[in-house]
Amino acid sequence: MSRLIIASNRLPVMINRSADGMTITPSAGGLATGLKSYHKDSNSVWIGWPGVMPETKKEEKEVIGLLETEQCLPVFLNEELITNYYDGFSNATLWPLFHYFAEFTEFNESYWESYSKVNEMFADAIIENAEEGDVVWVHDYQLLLLPNILRERRPDLTIGFFLHIPFPSYELIRILPWREQIVNGLLGADLIGFHTYDYARHFISSVKRLLGHDVDFNQIKLENRQVMIDVFPMGIDYEKFESHALEIQSKPIQDRSKEHQDIDRFLLSMPNRKLILSIDRLDYTKGIPQRLNAFREFLMKHPDYRERVSLIMLTVPSRTDVEQYQNLKNEIDVLVGNINGEFGTLNWNPVIYFYRSVPFNNLIELYSSADVALLTPLRDGMNLVAKEYIASKVNKKGVLILSEMAGASKELGEAISVNPNNIPDTADAIYRALTKPDKEMEKAITAMQQRIKRYDIHKWASEFMKALNKTIEKRSEHH
Ligand code: UDP
Repeated sequence: MSRLIIASNRLPVMINRSADGMTITPSAGGLATGLKSYHKDSNSVWIGWPGVMPETKKEEKEVIGLLETEQCLPVFLNEELITNYYDGFSNATLWPLFHYFAEFTEFNESYWESYSKVNEMFADAIIENAEEGDVVWVHDYQLLLLPNILRERRPDLTIGFFLHIPFPSYELIRILPWREQIVNGLLGADLIGFHTYDYARHFISSVKRLLGHDVDFNQIKLENRQVMIDVFPMGIDYEKFESHALEIQSKPIQDRSKEHQDIDRFLLSMPNRKLILSIDRLDYTKGIPQRLNAFREFLMKHPDYRERVSLIMLTVPSRTDVEQYQNLKNEIDVLVGNINGEFGTLNWNPVIYFYRSVPFNNLIELYSSADVALLTPLRDGMNLVAKEYIASKVNKKGVLILSEMAGASKELGEAISVNPNNIPDTADAIYRALTKPDKEMEKAITAMQQRIKRYDIHKWASEFMKALNKTIEKRSEHH
């Protein structure tokens, strides 16, 4: 029986240094949840960075020991690798380029060298642990070279790769000095998965134009083997969101959290008070300034909505060491200040702005109280927040406004779709959302709920694994 080895930049657990040694906290992230049954049941192992730099051999041993209990193996990164591989090539080269921010993309040889080195380190860790015929599932843009490194050193392995961000048009990929290496790196896999059909199509076109390989529908024909390309839109842990939302709904107001009671008081303080919600990491791909400008335009066009609607904007701090993120933070601070200064009154703040992350329970409360979710990324691989909002709407009263540039828009056709660069249209979308009849809301939410409930995070993982196992059968037929 072959085992599954999972590789991702971050492990599904976090190690922290505390006063009395190292501590371990499991993460509740989507990927960890989706892969849990594979990771736990089949004697499998997960390889990645534990989020800590041991300072002594003793500390290193301690970390390895803690991780062992969770079937995890560390790849230790030092300060320089974090700077050049993680902040550098991953987040200052690939992230902007793959999200169509060519002007933010940094080309730096040292970044590239560290990136190649870390991908080799992951390969070393995998190979040291892989038995004949094991299955490896590699995740995301930090490890694009890993499939091919593994293929060359261990042709017996079955290798799957999933990209969690967009794969852009060839016109973006061609800018990259290391474009052939990147595309070739991925082709080491037997199966490459993307969120949407468009991303898969862009990848295939880059393969054709850069490397000239033959492509037959969704199979790339290499000299001695084939690479399957397929689409697996990542889902959420639907049941978790639904059941928590049901629980909140069933509790009397006085038993709910203080925040929830505050929100409720706000909504009750005036007839027809409405809440618009947005949640994202503070990232330039998320279209936060565009969203604020659209909200401002809405308030200009519809003065009757002043004092009757607020935008709760939760932005989660992210990559705070990178200059663009600091600049964006300043830009948002100013925009929020301007809107609140211009329109606010003694008993009303147009924008209620948080720069922090919130615990899961509060997240659910926000989702379930918001009349409208306004999600306007300029580019987004998927956007799980959109799906989480829909799943939490157990009373079916809510409207989703979603950027057509989010991968999730492909599955959420009943949402109000906007081009986030079109500020007047987004402002109109806010108006349409706030005036949408209950019956239409229910119809749209129900249709979206059915779809994302069926293709949830467990289904996503199992469909990928099924397709990956199929490549094994195919290969043995070949021989
Ligand atoms: N999220 C969180 N804490 C918060 C706010 C959000 O853990 O305070 C989660 C949210 O539930 C969602 C994820 O962060 O699962 C964001 O995923 P998404 O695909 O929307 O965007 P990404 O951050 O991956 O670009």
